[in-house]
Amino acid sequence: MQPVGVAKGTLMLSAYCPRHGSTVLYSPSSITGIRNTPLGIEVTIECYCGELIEVLSGASSAEPAVASAR
Ligand SMILES: [Zn+2]
Repeated sequence: MQPVGVAKGTLMLSAYCPRHGSTVLYSPSSITGIRNTPLGIEVTIECYCGELIEVLSGASSAEPAVASAR
């Protein structure tokens, strides 16, 4: 498994949280689920504010894209 949106040398993930209204850094322990989809790896992150964020890490994309913002 490879972390998504990870900076070199760290194990932090970044994703946009709509409740925060900004990009938030998460530790790997914030990950609640990882799914393989035809579009790429979908990672579910539980934000510190309780928001569930799904991040799609496409193989063709260098940057993770926010799959949905529920
Ligand atoms: Zn948040």
